[in-house]
Amino acid sequence: MQILLGFFLAAIVAVLAWRVGALSRSGMVAAIVTGGLIFGLGGLPWATLLLTFFISSSALSRAYKKQKAILAEKFSKGSQRDWGQVLANGGLGAALALAYALTRQPEWLWVAFAGSMAAVNADTWSTELGVLSLIPPRLITSGKRVERGTSGGITLTGSMAALGGAALVGFFAILFTPAPELLTKLLVIILAGFVGALFDSILGATVQAIYWCPKCNKETERHPVHTCGSPTNQLRGLKWFNNDVVNFACSLMGGLVAAGVWLILR
Ligand SMILES: [Zn+2]
Repeated sequence: MQILLGFFLAAIVAVLAWRVGALSRSGMVAAIVTGGLIFGLGGLPWATLLLTFFISSSALSRAYKKQKAILAEKFSKGSQRDWGQVLANGGLGAALALAYALTRQPEWLWVAFAGSMAAVNADTWSTELGVLSLIPPRLITSGKRVERGTSGGITLTGSMAALGGAALVGFFAILFTPAPELLTKLLVIILAGFVGALFDSILGATVQAIYWCPKCNKETERHPVHTCGSPTNQLRGLKWFNNDVVNFACSLMGGLVAAGVWLILR
């Protein structure tokens, strides 16, 4: 019964998100499947965290659209999420919900889920708000100044946004936590989210596939064609390590850090 209700609610949210342009058609289908599993198998606590991520990150993607379009080409083309992006952000969560339902619902799986949601939320917040920084970013690996929107570039604004994104997920997670564990769990989730977002930046600066647009003379994550229509050539990174793989790795790191630290501290 709860599973049916979960899929029903996920379908309502996904169709609404598709109607307002936050999801593409394939993204809508992927969101019904992942959201249905998370809502249906995890219940209210899991649903709350997924919605916290989905609503806050979709809202931030749409905020300051004009400024972002001027500041970085990365944002010049819509904020619709396709199925790859949905699975990159929510696929691990759906797998954790499945594991949670099939076992004796151990708490560490729920903490891992909270950590993975904190990580993808932290990453989205830092990407969407970091680009508004007045000071250009520095590459996380070398400290060299890079152009706005460059993968692996970090700013103070973006880092504070990452903390905020992780903290929001942590705050909603502790609503379902007994009092003596409140502070520990909040800190574990914030830490996991922040480390996940940092890991995302490190991957962006090292192994992520980055391309070159010969027409615009600039780096881009876009392949095979740039936003200007010109074909792009690979510049560095591993070909299969695209933005979706980076986001999935970010969610995995968040889940591992949260569950690991939680199991050690408890
Ligand atoms: Zn171009």
